[in-house]
Amino acid sequence: MIRKTASTINDADLDQLYDQLGRLQIANRALNTAALEAVQRAEHAEAAIARVRAIHSHGRRTNACNDCGQPWPCEVARALDQAAPTAATQATEPRNPNARQAVDHL
Ligand SMILES: [Zn+2]
Repeated sequence: MIRKTASTINDADLDQLYDQLGRLQIANRALNTAALEAVQRAEHAEAAIARVRAIHSHGRRTNACNDCGQPWPCEVARALDQAAPTAATQATEPRNPNARQAVDHL
């Protein structure tokens, strides 16, 4: 793309640039909304995990879970500590369909 200057740009070029600017602003708003939603989902998930960890905690005297009584770490504690290899892949895909659509139309 050849960069136009103020003396070489015409009305059609300017219209095209404003159209592109409009699409980028729409995409930016959709992505910002998706990012805020992702942060909220992550905060809710982390709070839920913390609540479950507080319930399924290590009973020091018994060396068992304080909730389910299984030998420590209990099945729930082990599940919370497992790596989730697909989570990183899924996190890159925005759930907000407007964000996905805005990016696809750039
Ligand atoms: Zn437990």
